[in-house]
Amino acid sequence: MPSRRRRVAPLRAAILAAIVALAALGAREARAAAKPQWQVYALRYGTLRDFPVADLVAGADTTRKLDIAMMFWLLEGPNHRRVLVDAGFYRQRFLDDFHPADYVRPSSLIERAGLTAGQVTDIIISHIHWDHLDGADLFPNARIWIQKDEYEHHINADGAPINSAIDTVDAAMLSTLKRAGRVVLVDGDDQEIIPGITVYTGGKHTFASQYAGVRTAKGTVIVASDNVYLYENLDRHVPIAQTLDARSNLAAQDRMRRLASSIRLIVPGHDPAVFKRFRGVAPAVVKIE
Ligand SMILES: [Zn+2]
Repeated sequence: MPSRRRRVAPLRAAILAAIVALAALGAREARAAAKPQWQVYALRYGTLRDFPVADLVAGADTTRKLDIAMMFWLLEGPNHRRVLVDAGFYRQRFLDDFHPADYVRPSSLIERAGLTAGQVTDIIISHIHWDHLDGADLFPNARIWIQKDEYEHHINADGAPINSAIDTVDAAMLSTLKRAGRVVLVDGDDQEIIPGITVYTGGKHTFASQYAGVRTAKGTVIVASDNVYLYENLDRHVPIAQTLDARSNLAAQDRMRRLASSIRLIVPGHDPAVFKRFRGVAPAVVKIE
């Protein structure tokens, strides 16, 4: 009965193929489900009033002023992993110099997200400027992630600043944390440093400033920090005013658009509109989704 066998064989093959395809689909879904997803929050710890927009957006009208948001970001993941992107500032010298309005110490602000400072497990430092790095030592158990090139470009082996981009106290503080074994130097672009969190370079706000792509239930969120100061940079496709390489900054913005699941999921570093565009979950805390 060769003819019947010929008919059965293709049917059996088709069933087998379907089973294999279903199994593959199941495995893919299982893998996707196993990939950790994060919740992303922006926390506003203060405001700098009447900040010149021309210092943020290249070529902007020099008479324009904006009350800019001082913020950092909280990523909450599985297994009680709580990651900050940047840490704000708290030292008196900066408070005296910049007089932020509505200031809340970053370690107090995260209590509004239901956390204590000791529960923060990791801090990704986007760059070494005082308003992003200074608060790192408020979180006693956090491991600090910074680009190797960013660290080595700004801090020498004795913990002294190599150039004026970094404040002396912050250089000493980070160097002390490094000696205590709490600093991880990230080696370059496109590194998934924690499952579901990938850092990227090329924004060129500072020598090796980085930004983070975070996997969430709503897709990939890009925490740009100062590699994009304001939504205006993205909307008008204009580099940030303070960059070492305007072309690289624009290329990074283009890449963020490709990486983010939607352009609204790119979070700039100082735009007060972040706190209007997203849902508030506590005073000065919004959820990015
Ligand atoms: Zn900043």
